[in-house]
Amino acid sequence: MKREVAILGATGTVGQRFIELLQGHPWFEISVLAASERSAGKKYKEACKWRMETPMPEAVEDMTVVNTNLKEVKQAGNVDFVFSALPGSIAGPIEEEFAVEYPVVSKASAHRMKSDVPLIIPEVNPDHLQLISVQKKNRGWNGFISTDPNCSTIQLAITLKALMKFGVENVIVSTMQALSGAGYPGVPSLDIIDNVVPYISGEEEKMENETRKILGTFYGEEIQPANITISASCHRVNVKDGHLEAVYVGLEQKPTIEEVKEAFRNFVGEPQRLKLPTAPERPIIVKEEIDRPQPRFDRDAGKGMSVVVGRIREDPIMTVKYLCLGHNTIRGAAGAGILSAELMVKKGLL
Ligand code: NAP
Repeated sequence: MKREVAILGATGTVGQRFIELLQGHPWFEISVLAASERSAGKKYKEACKWRMETPMPEAVEDMTVVNTNLKEVKQAGNVDFVFSALPGSIAGPIEEEFAVEYPVVSKASAHRMKSDVPLIIPEVNPDHLQLISVQKKNRGWNGFISTDPNCSTIQLAITLKALMKFGVENVIVSTMQALSGAGYPGVPSLDIIDNVVPYISGEEEKMENETRKILGTFYGEEIQPANITISASCHRVNVKDGHLEAVYVGLEQKPTIEEVKEAFRNFVGEPQRLKLPTAPERPIIVKEEIDRPQPRFDRDAGKGMSVVVGRIREDPIMTVKYLCLGHNTIRGAAGAGILSAELMVKKGLL
């Protein structure tokens, strides 16, 4: 029997991507769609301005959207767990309300840095799921909250994890982030056509702090953040999907460029070993062409779940530099949430 899932924020950019990716999923089935009071009471096809390139799945067209509160969601259908794609500003208390009864797999920032909340990338830190038992003990909940990182952080952390064996000491990252990262309708067209906006609120702090937590060590009952200095500069560019990042890494050791490429190419994690349905065969794909990765050509690699790395070269100040690209609403959002939930199934948490 498939596990039944409620999606909070089902009408938004990430909510739509969850619906698209969950079509025909072997383990999960959508049972409830919830959004704001603007959408509640309407059929999904009336409430949602569908912005995916594939058609809206028939199964959700006539589902009635409910308000994002525990009582209404429970009345609307059977729920085994919850995906949250709510704005970070409102997700905090709502996710806590749901976690009293249900596991909540969240894309929102509200709980990411809480000491008893896992911040998971299944290939990078699956052992951090051990925080769930700490959290349940602390809070007395039947359910729990597990979070996925910010979209720009996920692709960076995956590439850094592959380099950890060389001793990652410090990182400078400069992002070129897609418009869909700002949700819908997102950035006004007159702000971004013929332009680059060199500021994304809160993004640089998220990249710096979340990455240290993700690459940290589970120790007793908490995560000891990784001792890495990270400096991020984040920019919005006129691209629909796919964040591109220029990354400069200082390493303790001095591997050759070929050794760095091998570390990227050979990198796999638990999702690959467990053959999880949403796991890409290769979490990192190395491009040799001098002008790749590019968002338009590379964002769908591994069905949007692979991070594409290119232009790997020595750096005269740090040790190595490269470009990495990830699909922000798939590997950076809904795909990440689904992969985390698949891992939790295998760990007996869902
Ligand atoms: P979005 O397009 O603005 O969608 C927001 C969703 O939340 C909509 O379904 C909206 O419903 C609902 N909502 C808004 N206010 C609400 C309220 N007061 N009560 C209940 N529901 C409310 O945003 P998004 O881009 O999908 O982002 C969703 C979350 O994922 C955010 O926390 C974001 O930071 C995170 N995230 C986004 C990306 C990305 O690439 N976009 C990547 C990683 C993480 P209505 O339609 O009814 O207003």
